[in-house]
Amino acid sequence: MAGRLQDKVAIVTGAGSSGPGWGNGKATAVLFAREGAKVFCTDVDTDALAETLNLILGDGGEAAAQVADVSLADHVAAMVQSCLERFGRIDILHNNVGIVELGGPVEASEAAWDRVVDVNLKSMFLTCKHVLPRMAAQGSGAIVNISSIAGIRWTGVPYVSYSATKAAVLGFTRSVALEYAQRGIRANTILPGLMNTPMIVEPLKDAYGQGDVQKMVEVRDAQCPMGHMGDAWDVAYAALFLASDEAKYITGAELVVDGGITAKMA
Ligand code: NAD
Repeated sequence: MAGRLQDKVAIVTGAGSSGPGWGNGKATAVLFAREGAKVFCTDVDTDALAETLNLILGDGGEAAAQVADVSLADHVAAMVQSCLERFGRIDILHNNVGIVELGGPVEASEAAWDRVVDVNLKSMFLTCKHVLPRMAAQGSGAIVNISSIAGIRWTGVPYVSYSATKAAVLGFTRSVALEYAQRGIRANTILPGLMNTPMIVEPLKDAYGQGDVQKMVEVRDAQCPMGHMGDAWDVAYAALFLASDEAKYITGAELVVDGGITAKMA
């Protein structure tokens, strides 16, 4: 039986994970491959990237990988070029990379602010700059950008650069979606809620658990209406739907994947 992304070529940024277990990008890359996509994985972390590549190849899937920092223009240009040389086209761009730096405007350094803006927002500008012309030439494409409920709600943690960039992802995606709607290219955003992925451990263990990871998990679980955080697969399955032709009439949409927490915060 054909997979839901059979023979499509997908770029997944941040396809590794920042610790053991499943990050959103890692789960998405593996799921896309299981559904028949040829996945071009990229990450700044060589070992994490190799792990995801090996998972896909071990599964019998098709994938390639290239180390790149997606906040850097020359890295992105080279990464997109490599994908085209290897697979010949780009059907799906999954912009998953995101980092957290704690602090409000007073506490956060200017360097930390600039870094978060570059990694969380400029990266999407750069990948779209290089991928959109190719999708436009093909007359088709699907872009899935990862935001966060922190872009639309106060989550209780001051990380102003994270909240601001994740809000900006919404406007960025809407603009791309409308500009390219008549050229067969769709662009949508996923807003994950509180997810239990490796990303949260380092930046958030102090904010939620006074340095105690188990305490952090308990506090975050308790905030969620279902009594537990979501996981990377919840985001991956949402991305799979939006990237697939099943979502052919969906563009400019914002899909919240949060177990109901924003409904509670409304
Ligand atoms: P993760 O840290 O496990 O994985 C992200 C990957 O991106 C890592 O492998 C890291 O090496 C890579 N990366 C970081 N900076 C990079 C760069 N400049 N260039 C290339 N690769 C880079 O994180 P995750 O939990 O999978 O989160 C992925 C996305 O989901 C992020 O955008 C994050 O903001 C978003 N998100 C996560 C949560 C959550 O609770 N975990 C909630 C909302 C949104």
